[in-house]
Amino acid sequence: MKDLINKIKTDGIALNEDVLKVDSFLNHQIDPVLMKNIGDEFAKHFKDLNITKVFTIESSGIAPALMTSLKLNIPLVVLKKQLPNTLIDGYYSVPVKSFTKNSIYNLTLSKKYISKDDNILIIDDFLAYGEATLGVINIIKEAHANIAGIGIVIEKSFQPGRKKLDSLGYNVYSLARIASMSKNKINFIKEEWFYKSFFFYSFHT
Ligand code: 5GP
Repeated sequence: MKDLINKIKTDGIALNEDVLKVDSFLNHQIDPVLMKNIGDEFAKHFKDLNITKVFTIESSGIAPALMTSLKLNIPLVVLKKQLPNTLIDGYYSVPVKSFTKNSIYNLTLSKKYISKDDNILIIDDFLAYGEATLGVINIIKEAHANIAGIGIVIEKSFQPGRKKLDSLGYNVYSLARIASMSKNKINFIKEEWFYKSFFFYSFHT
């Protein structure tokens, strides 16, 4: 997605080869116009799959996931990283290793907000090692609901998350795919460029 990639190029900061800081537009200060465009793009991509709910993890996934659910006109469910005191009824909970904090949290969902008839779109801000997304997947599977697709705002394709999800057969759509990073340099996978060149070449030979 062109405007997202441009924003990452101008405002994203590669702290090192592994971590991208995007807190000026995605997870501390938030750019609402960009979030709306992200929601529109995910909604357009997944619109024919009869999705019943969008699922995300607090807190960085909420902005893009909310815009997606608004466009699809379906509820957004936010999975918690701690067990809230108010969650007194039944809940699902799975341990997840946090990429940014290098610790374990318990991803938690009230049983009230999922049923076996749900067809769920998972949205998250980043895909790195896939631990967060796999945690959501495990909870959805435990509830015997279906996973229709996974939408990722920024995929770091050089880390193993995408390969794990592909090998499990999930329908993954990432809006920006980063091939590699070094301090202050971010290289994207040039899919659009690749496909345009491929079609140009096919039609002209
Ligand atoms: P994973 O579970 O795929 O290893 O990591 C995904 C989660 O870690 C995301 O929900 C995101 O919050 C966080 N994360 C992973 N990589 C980055 C990064 O480079 N920058 C930031 N800001 N968060 C990240």
